[in-house]
Amino acid sequence: MSLKNVFNKVLAWFDSSNVKLEDNISEAIDWMRVIPFLLMHLICLLVFVVGWSPIALWVALASYGLRMFAITAFYHRYFSHKAFKTSRIAQFFFGVLGATATQRGPIWWASHHRRHHIYSDKDQDIHSPKHGFLWSHVGWFLCLKNFTTHEHCVRDLVKFPELVLLDRFDIFVPIIYAISIFSLGYYLESAYPELHTNGMQMLIWGYFISSIVLIHCTLFVNSLAHILGSKRYDTGDDSRNNWLIAFLTMGEGWHNNHHHFPISARQGFFWWEIDMSYYLLKLMSYFGVIWELNPIPSNRLYSNLIQKDEN
Ligand SMILES: [Zn+2]
Ligand SMILES: [Zn+2]
Repeated sequence: MSLKNVFNKVLAWFDSSNVKLEDNISEAIDWMRVIPFLLMHLICLLVFVVGWSPIALWVALASYGLRMFAITAFYHRYFSHKAFKTSRIAQFFFGVLGATATQRGPIWWASHHRRHHIYSDKDQDIHSPKHGFLWSHVGWFLCLKNFTTHEHCVRDLVKFPELVLLDRFDIFVPIIYAISIFSLGYYLESAYPELHTNGMQMLIWGYFISSIVLIHCTLFVNSLAHILGSKRYDTGDDSRNNWLIAFLTMGEGWHNNHHHFPISARQGFFWWEIDMSYYLLKLMSYFGVIWELNPIPSNRLYSNLIQKDEN
């Protein structure tokens, strides 16, 4: 790799418009993107240096829950599927909140996810486990080809310049988020020494560990939720309902339901299918933050049923 190429790759970490769709067609792994991803995992090991405190654990959990909600409810159900409506301000606010999860910007995320629904488990499905488990889990977004956005899939989103800007410079959002978490720990160390925390401990728990768990749990929906679990509906793909993934992802594990009727705001179709994201969306609708949540029509609830559940 020439020095110019390396420079361009490093620049692309900060400005994703630096890479064009036509220049990025190879399915080869992009090592310049793997390095920061691996580094994020390795930094988590610093937990053995900084130790833990109850407050650091609580902040990590809150940081996980808040950002998982932004990913599942907004990146997925809103930006990708338009399962409900909201204002332009709330759309941008939750787009920024979703970007703190370090899963790129909402337009990139939605463009690849919409293609997943079009080609689900077919050859063109970029993260089907049929191409191998590791590929479906992490390989697909670490390869050159999938770095860029398929703009023709997201015409409704690219018309908002603020979202385009967010997508272009998405990496600055988690950087600012991580600095804020560090600052919180730094403040608590001097203001409340009895909490036994500090900036570095809070950064490792509240950003790095929380983000890595969050990223992998989100990725399980692409990988494991197309392998493990039960099928209620004949969706023509391998999507599954998996209660454990649903628990970890605040409702996204009801993935066979979701492939059956993707524009529904709820993915747990029955009362026993716990769907935390939907309950919170419902709550937000009472306050007028969002509206027109798409229901699952009763005729679709019982259509295309598989007679006998298979595992
Ligand atoms: Zn799927
Ligand atoms: Zn979807």
